[in-house]
Amino acid sequence: MEIIKTKCPACEWPLEFPEDFDNVTCNTCGTAFRVRHYKGNVNLAVIGEDRKNAAELAEAETRATMAARLAEVTEDIEKVREEIEVLKSNEQIAPLQIGCAFFGMFGFLLLLLALFATVAKNYFGGWLFYLSIITVILLSLLRMRRKLPDPQKLDYYRRERATLEAACAQLEAEKAQVEKLQPEVFASSVDAKVSEPE
Ligand SMILES: [Zn+2]
Repeated sequence: MEIIKTKCPACEWPLEFPEDFDNVTCNTCGTAFRVRHYKGNVNLAVIGEDRKNAAELAEAETRATMAARLAEVTEDIEKVREEIEVLKSNEQIAPLQIGCAFFGMFGFLLLLLALFATVAKNYFGGWLFYLSIITVILLSLLRMRRKLPDPQKLDYYRRERATLEAACAQLEAEKAQVEKLQPEVFASSVDAKVSEPE
């Protein structure tokens, strides 16, 4: 059996071992090596180092996965918030339209009064005057009634919004959980959040 004579890669002291050894430990410094033969050359790899590398790799992978999940969750939260805003504006648009119709009625009445105070001065206080005013009010009320929010629709919007808000809270909780697992990884993203306005 051939004896391999080489130097310990760690401490540089002479190292001798039989050719068929898979592992060898340096007597001088105690470092353990895995022996690899390749085309007549001997390669000594420190045992444990590749395992450490694998562990680091796995950790980096976990971090990358968590960062990706966090980005995903953040995006989901944004989308849900947007939908909540749309529903909110749907809920608010009906009262707004009624308000507009109401002010529109006053505008028409003022116009009518101006008309009767000037051009149609002779009719002021007459039956045509009152009929015109009543007509404007009636038409405006009809317009407002048509714009009255459909209670069923409003209820649907509200329920939908509640569901989305619950989903949003759940996503936020998940985000917080992921962030808590590896605070140092997400330190930069937390900083970015702090510097955001609002
Ligand atoms: Zn050594």
